[in-house]
Amino acid sequence: MACKVAWDLPVEEHRLYIETIGGGGVDLPGGQWPNLHMKWKPVFTQKCINCRGTDSTEGMPYCVYNCTTEALTSGDVDDLNSAISREMERLRGMGYTISQRPAWEGTREGVYYAEKQL
Ligand code: SF4
Repeated sequence: MACKVAWDLPVEEHRLYIETIGGGGVDLPGGQWPNLHMKWKPVFTQKCINCRGTDSTEGMPYCVYNCTTEALTSGDVDDLNSAISREMERLRGMGYTISQRPAWEGTREGVYYAEKQL
């Protein structure tokens, strides 16, 4: 919603989409009752490539700046003291795997996902 408001996007346009990880389709869990599992992953598309935010968002993309749970972090991964590098190190220490989507998917480059097997 932050993205749509900031960029004044029409109702039908989204710059990211939400992927369901679990069962065979959108919002369908995997597994067997009562051991069902499902999670969601935001996938940033190439429409995000030029999104850098503004001074009012401290240079962060609007989705990152407005994320109330701080699930998203942005910054320079080559700077070991940046917020994102420190967050990646913290998550690795908690057993998370850090990965990127394959380039052939055409999603935004430079996005890393932290995931932990349950
Ligand atoms: S990176 Fe920018 S364009 Fe992409 S979803 Fe976030 S706010 Fe929207």
